Amino acid sequence: MALERLQKVIAEAGIASRRKAEKMIQEGRVRVDGKVVTVLGTKVDTFSNITVDGEPIERESLHTYLFYKPRGVVSTVKDEKGRKTVVDYFEDVPYRLYPIGRLDYDTSGALLMTNDGKLANKLMHPKHKVDKVYIAKIEGQLAPEEIIALKKGVTFDGFKSAKAKVKVLKTNPKKNTQLVQLTIHEGKYHQVKKMFKAVNHPVIKLSREKYAFLDLVGLQSGDYRELSRLEVDRLH
Ligand code: URA
Repeated sequence: MALERLQKVIAEAGIASRRKAEKMIQEGRVRVDGKVVTVLGTKVDTFSNITVDGEPIERESLHTYLFYKPRGVVSTVKDEKGRKTVVDYFEDVPYRLYPIGRLDYDTSGALLMTNDGKLANKLMHPKHKVDKVYIAKIEGQLAPEEIIALKKGVTFDGFKSAKAKVKVLKTNPKKNTQLVQLTIHEGKYHQVKKMFKAVNHPVIKLSREKYAFLDLVGLQSGDYRELSRLEVDRLH
């Protein structure tokens, strides 16, 4: 959960400078969820109800959505080539949303959209190892040693990927393809495609089935749903 100091939140709402906000708190003019708070540095979360002299402060409301990105859509807010973007699916939502990370134009699947900059920064930071589960249709079939290599980490562009989980889901000998589930927490550009390329099995089709604990159950391609407070808390 994103916790912030009360005086900072009051200052950011444009009520007063931080110094003045501190004074207001000490004077007992500030309530958090109905209770007077006089201790400076009290931490509040994004959902706390804050009043000053009985008036609720206007906080930017933060919203995060799980989006089932279709193929053929760019994961940017604007596209200079005029292609459809993920934001185009949120025309009815009155917030300025942007994607947390990216999926390639030809990749479908779970993508978070938010107006919560702190959450976005946190989740995109490499330290915050969010598991992402992909299903790749690849050319050929993985040999046991290639599976081991993917699990241990493969090198591409001078970068060695971290340990991964690999599970072969289905083999199609006629078409000489395989469906493979790959779980990684990193997010280098084209990472999944490059990892399979590193073991000489180009990706034909890619989708992301899961982002952290969030899967696409109940969503159709192009659908989205807002995350609950509990789900947002779990992501932090
Ligand atoms: N890895 C890729 O290669 N593409 C994606 O869209 C996501 C991960």
